[in-house]
Amino acid sequence: MSGSLVVVGTGPGKAELMTPATLAALAKATDLVGYGPYLDRVPVTRPDQRRHASDNRVELERARHALSLAASGREVVVVSGGDPGVFAMAAAVFEAVETGDPAWRALDIRVEPGVTAMLAAAAEVGAPLGGDFCAISLSDNLKAWTIIERRLHAAAEADFVIALYNPASKARPHQLARAFELLRAIKAGDTPVLFVRAAGTTEAAAIATTLAAADATQADMRTLVIVGASTTRRIGRWVSTPRGAKP
Ligand code: SAH
Repeated sequence: MSGSLVVVGTGPGKAELMTPATLAALAKATDLVGYGPYLDRVPVTRPDQRRHASDNRVELERARHALSLAASGREVVVVSGGDPGVFAMAAAVFEAVETGDPAWRALDIRVEPGVTAMLAAAAEVGAPLGGDFCAISLSDNLKAWTIIERRLHAAAEADFVIALYNPASKARPHQLARAFELLRAIKAGDTPVLFVRAAGTTEAAAIATTLAAADATQADMRTLVIVGASTTRRIGRWVSTPRGAKP
């Protein structure tokens, strides 16, 4: 007997931002697998549903566990925050398939999209992602810091709006300050910078400042930082990047 595996995202936090497709997958599941705080966002609808909470750092192990449950016939949902394909569990599931039991390739595996943090954060402040943009995770848990610096440099040179995920954590307090330093050498000091904390939740809070004045200590694990392009500007209470850059 073969079960299924659906990778979902809970969105940024507010219940209304979880998609109906994700809610349907959750309602059908026999087993939920995920990082504890994300599982806590999922309402209990079925008392028979098993919940397998794990630590944040053991992504690949968690993915293998979910795949073996599905292979044993369970209807498994792997729960991420935001969108499951953006710096989250979906890629870990496919990495586990790539290196794991060949039988896993025959499983019914699906990904449901979710509202990722940068979209919720942008909506809190206006339309800062209105032109070309990119997303970079500042976490060097899974990649070298030199690669992150190279990408920041390239994104600044190409004048993208830059969404920074994982800007800071207790284990990595200095990286955002280093990122700002690098960006200041390339971009204008008056470039808008946004710190959006708990976007898409009832506790959402945004700080709008400039690259010259940006204080890295204002970011924590629940903050998404947006660094504008040369065309990004403040319009009243809002921040917006025009769609075009034609003179
Ligand atoms: N899969 C998630 C991202 C996981 S990486 C997604 O698509 O949103 C975790 C990082 O996402 C956090 O360090 C933070 O930078 C950002 N983040 C997640 N939820 C957020 C929220 N509600 N508000 C602001 N940033 C958030």
